[in-house]
Amino acid sequence: MDKLLLIPGPSPVVPRVLDALAMPTVSHVSPEMSADLAAACENLKRIVFTTSGEPFVIAGAGTLSMEMALLNVAAKSDRVLVLSQGYFGDRMGQICDAFGFESELVRSPWGRAVPAATLEKKLQENTYDVVAVTHVDTSTGACAPVESYARVLKNSGRMFIVDGVCATGGIEERMDDWGVDVILTAAQKCFGAPPGLAVCVFSERALAKRKSLASVPAYYTDILRWRPIMNDPSKYFSTHGVNEIRAFAEATRMMIEEGLPARFARHKRTGRAFRAGFGALGFASFTERDCLADTLSVLRYPAGFDDKAFRMTLGQNGVVVAGGLSETAGKVFRVGHMGNLSFEQVLFAFEAVEKTLDSLGYRFEMGAGIRAAKNMLNGDVS
Ligand code: PMP
Repeated sequence: MDKLLLIPGPSPVVPRVLDALAMPTVSHVSPEMSADLAAACENLKRIVFTTSGEPFVIAGAGTLSMEMALLNVAAKSDRVLVLSQGYFGDRMGQICDAFGFESELVRSPWGRAVPAATLEKKLQENTYDVVAVTHVDTSTGACAPVESYARVLKNSGRMFIVDGVCATGGIEERMDDWGVDVILTAAQKCFGAPPGLAVCVFSERALAKRKSLASVPAYYTDILRWRPIMNDPSKYFSTHGVNEIRAFAEATRMMIEEGLPARFARHKRTGRAFRAGFGALGFASFTERDCLADTLSVLRYPAGFDDKAFRMTLGQNGVVVAGGLSETAGKVFRVGHMGNLSFEQVLFAFEAVEKTLDSLGYRFEMGAGIRAAKNMLNGDVS
């Protein structure tokens, strides 16, 4: 039996995208590859609302796109400010350390986001050349006020990097309007494509910054090495993840067909449905109300609840969710709801959850989770 993957990525891959993945492996410099890569890049620009930004899609994962983003816009002497809402924001700090950049980490308590006012204050206190933030931190479910950060940073001359691994394509990110310099992301989350691709979009300003740097501490992730290939995919720099790119191109076509406003609204509705359903079953949100993400939910277990037994039995009932990371391990579980999740799959998930809770002897009103989720799915998201 195929299990419904509701972890915070990879998200389930629909048959149409899997079919694209199963197409023959063509030459990395063939016209077929060129067409798919070009389509993926064009669609990507529409997905992050840019006309002048330049996409880069290379074999790798989200962590590689974090490196790619940073290494191409930070000069050796630059100071980097990282706003961290959890595990993945902290990771950006570690990447700064690994490459010897001077950085400062501003961390919110887990389950909250760093307020834009804190960014404003930091900028008054100190000099920073690059600001990096995580849009949705997958460890805590906190969604950062990226648009407000952008307002603070606009026209300041600083490079603004947004980690959209758990957001791009599921939550609106308007690169040109907001003035974001790099959006970094990965194929396996809100795009509903299989894992294996690091995806970045660089603004014109970000490209100019890269060009101004005599060298960067990167070879494979140096965007100036990839740029000729992205402009003309018949050229070679390094072998593409051919099949992954064909699948990713198909996933982006589906996104454009759905329409971005409809896709964002569906994510919002799905997120509300999951939280309403779990709320009705007695699981409170770990994440604060003012920064809930549309792409994943982090739920607290009631006292004494057995995390391992719950997730194992739920898996046997056909649904896979993830446990908590570091300080939240055993105390919360994380449910990803991004990509191409249908309303029927949400309801199936709640049937499996209720069956699981019942078999574990948990006291709840049978059907309450399904009912609450269904109400939200049919509700208005304005
Ligand atoms: N940033 C965020 C916000 C993420 O959620 C993740 C993955 N969970 C990453 C970066 C790293 O991506 P990957 O696991 O693909 O390297």
